[in-house]
Amino acid sequence: MAEEKKESSFDADKANMLVQDLRQQFDSGKTKAYEWRVAQLEGISRMIDEREKEIVEAVHKDLSKPEFEAFVAEINMTKSSCKLALQELKQWMMPEKVKTSLTTYPSSAEIVSEPLGVVLVISTWNYPFLLSLDPVIGAIAAGNAVVLKPSEISPATSSLLANLLQEYVDNTSIKVIEGAVDETSALLEQKWDKIFYTGSGRVGRIVMAAAAKHLTPVILELGGKCPVVVDSDVNLQVAARRIIAGKWSCNNGQTCTAADYVITTKDFAPKLIDALRSELDEFFGKDHLDSKDMSRVVNLYHFKRLMKSMKEDGVSDKIVLGGQTDATQLKIAPTILLDAPKDSLLMTEEIFGPLLPIVTVEKIEDSFQVIKSKPKPLAAYLFTNNEELKKSFVKDISAGGMLINDTILHLTVPGLPFGGVGESGMGYYHGKFSFEAFSHKKSVMYRSFDGDSSVRYPPYTPKKLKLI
Ligand code: NAD
Repeated sequence: MAEEKKESSFDADKANMLVQDLRQQFDSGKTKAYEWRVAQLEGISRMIDEREKEIVEAVHKDLSKPEFEAFVAEINMTKSSCKLALQELKQWMMPEKVKTSLTTYPSSAEIVSEPLGVVLVISTWNYPFLLSLDPVIGAIAAGNAVVLKPSEISPATSSLLANLLQEYVDNTSIKVIEGAVDETSALLEQKWDKIFYTGSGRVGRIVMAAAAKHLTPVILELGGKCPVVVDSDVNLQVAARRIIAGKWSCNNGQTCTAADYVITTKDFAPKLIDALRSELDEFFGKDHLDSKDMSRVVNLYHFKRLMKSMKEDGVSDKIVLGGQTDATQLKIAPTILLDAPKDSLLMTEEIFGPLLPIVTVEKIEDSFQVIKSKPKPLAAYLFTNNEELKKSFVKDISAGGMLINDTILHLTVPGLPFGGVGESGMGYYHGKFSFEAFSHKKSVMYRSFDGDSSVRYPPYTPKKLKLI
């Protein structure tokens, strides 16, 4: 029997009313005030301090995320974003003085950051707390009214956000709407001043098409296949640990910047696999599948998707490590595959899970061509001590961001913009970039009535022509 579709109570009419209400709030001017912005950011900070346990429990319910990972990546990172915005907000809001030219003499000029208005943040499930609130923090810091739509795939965190946030912030200007495709579609029909979307490229295209109808600017934080190139001159133990930390210790591979595949030379691959095996045992014990220090696969849909990639013809016999699964607990052990076919799902689609293919090449420089044969990734990693190789990697490889001799950590530096390029996304945020992502940089010039020159005014005489 076909499953009955639940009618959504949040439709386009309700979404329209919501946006109208929020526009009224924004037009009242209150969200522009420094004090309002600070009060909201302090509210979020207080919410995290007071409700930490509930937040950790919710992300555990959604993903079996280990407490340590929840603290580091959800609690601490969100708190740091809030703290930085509170520390720097005055500075960020200050108009930036700009030099003027002889043509405009006498004059002065400045760039004024103004809020965009009413903005929509559509979030995802893998870091359901951080990736919901981090853009919201930027939107509030910039003085906007905000609607957050968390992911229905992480329902515990989505419902927690909907319940908690309204207790701690101005719930007339900051709203959470829960729901899935129907609710998101209703929201997307509305005219927003910016849409910030985190998720897949497939839905990113839907978001961008909807935004185009209203000429609404978008930031798309998408994914892709993030490569890790490993040269043979590395400290093998450290390299292996850092690859594991950026793959299985980061939400079990369900991270947009996680290592999607490794490229190394044919000769070096066996040594790298041995090092990965030994460090995996060190981290997760002999029975990796049983470890409590790894998130599970988020749901059955994604479990089946990963199983399909792993069991594809010509792929399953490439497993050199792992491969154990437990469907009842939605668990797949860390699995390494050597030289899977180039046209397999594993090598053409983003993996977003605990499978790690290793691609071998004759010379390490050949890795560049492998990376360039795929869409531009969100992150690219290189492990090497060779300075020339580092230089050419930075110069020749296009990626949202890159990190040499480690994985993932670059996105914890607030001074670095975080975002994709090409199919991995457009626009960026973090730190001051989050404030800028939700601001319009308005050019303002001031002139006085003094020093008025007649050169620019008609009649355009030959004498005036000689003066310009
Ligand atoms: P998704 O695109 O399926 O879902 C994200 C959001 O879109 C959810 O809120 C969902 O309700 C909504 N949505 C889903 N289908 C929709 C539709 N047809 N119409 C309108 N809205 C719809 O993505 P996902 O599976 O949640 O996330 C996985 C992807 O996200 C991966 O590619 C990953 O790399 C990427 N990601 C990127 C970042 C980043 O910061 N760049 C972070 C996390 C995840």
